[in-house]
Amino acid sequence: MAHHVLRFAAGTDVGQRRKVNEDSAYAGPRLLAVADGMGGHPHGDVASRAAITAIAELAARLSPDLPAGDDLAADLAAVVAGITRRLDDLGRQDAELRRMGTTLTAMAWGGAGFTVAHVGDSRGYLLRDGALVQITRDHTMVQSLVDGGQLTMEEAARHPRSSVLVRALQSGSDAHPDIYRQDARPGDRFLLCSDGVFGYVPHEAIRSAVAGSAEPERVVARLIDLANGAGGPDNITCVVADVLPASAGAGERVPLTIGAAGRDAAGPLARLGRRLRRA
Ligand code: MG
Repeated sequence: MAHHVLRFAAGTDVGQRRKVNEDSAYAGPRLLAVADGMGGHPHGDVASRAAITAIAELAARLSPDLPAGDDLAADLAAVVAGITRRLDDLGRQDAELRRMGTTLTAMAWGGAGFTVAHVGDSRGYLLRDGALVQITRDHTMVQSLVDGGQLTMEEAARHPRSSVLVRALQSGSDAHPDIYRQDARPGDRFLLCSDGVFGYVPHEAIRSAVAGSAEPERVVARLIDLANGAGGPDNITCVVADVLPASAGAGERVPLTIGAAGRDAAGPLARLGRRLRRA
């Protein structure tokens, strides 16, 4: 089977109103992921960092080139279960960390398609033939109401409790990720983003930004500008990946770990880590 390659970029921004960036993301030749630490709970940054650190560890175990016999669905299910155990451990060590949680939308590249693992309300989208289609289903209360016919998508987007999650990776509860295959072909462009993007930037503006440049880096920068231009009420995180024929080469292949998971050792996470070790 002909294998394709990914060209990827990722970016994150704290936005205009939050003090801390609780989003994290990873982008590499085999894995793309966004995690959004849960608002309204303390230490969402610790939770999203735990999720993306586990994704980066899986990426390090996968061959950067292609996959003979990888079982990506099993790998992702194991990573998700491991993240929940890690959050449980942290919650036992420090009562302040109990009930912290994170979304996770992760896509593992198999050479001709992705395996997706998704919990929460970060989103994956596919731009194909000029149309931008959401490929994940939000685990939100309002999505449940849409599914039940009680709200339209437009009403859901404006709902005051639109961000209330019905599923997340959280200490003290089992994770139930959606895990499924997503096909891909050369010319496809995938976007993963946190709700700081799609919650404030209209779908058509996201579509035109995603379609608007050949360079994934420029798309990431444009989406962050649009979200900040819309007031930047939340943290803003995007991963963009293009599917290219292997003959095109993928250019930059150095994995990126950004946001709370990428903060340097002097940051608040390191201080928290020291506090945990003393405890
Ligand atoms: Mg958010």
